[in-house]
This record gives sequence, C-alpha cells and structure tokens, in this order.
Amino acid sequence: MSFRLNDYRCRKCGKVSERLAKDKEVIHSLCCGSVMDKLPPRFSVNMGPVPIAGYYDDNLESFVSTNTQRKELMRQRGVCEKGATPKPDGEAWV
Ligand SMILES: [Zn+2]
Repeated sequence: MSFRLNDYRCRKCGKVSERLAKDKEVIHSLCCGSVMDKLPPRFSVNMGPVPIAGYYDDNLESFVSTNTQRKELMRQRGVCEKGATPKPDGEAWV
C-alpha cells in the first residue's frame, strides 16, 4: 500500500482538495471534518473533442472528423494519446 496524491471532495460542502492518502484511507475534510469522496484521477492528456468541422492531425497525418475516426487511426498507427504522462507511480496511463 502506498500513499497517493488524490483529489477528494467533501460530502458536506463539496469542496475539492488534493490530499495525500493511502488507497483505502478514509479522508476527513479540513473544512468541516466530513468524510471526503475520492475523485477519479485527473488525466493530464490533452485530448479535447474533435471540432465539428474536423481538423488535420499532424501526428496521424490524416484529416480527422470524428473521435471514433481518430481512435481508429491511432489504433492503426499504434499511436498513443499525445501528451500522455506517466502516473505518479510510473505506470503509463492506458
Ligand atoms: Zn466540508
């Protein structure tokens, strides 16, 4: 079991804060002491939605008009999402 920096949200106030905690540890908020819910990890991958008109993707060397098409092109070319960063523990995002 290792400590991880995660986002937690106060159940009472909805206040979100970054806390260092063990995976299963119950976190109490600093604001009011309520239990905090762990939020899903933030992805640093910058993959916004494909614009309605589509765009030319330099990396894929293709004109991309839909998210589905981009995923398919990436799969075909064996490309990972641009800007993918390793998790704090060194594993790559999937
Ligand atoms: Zn609170």
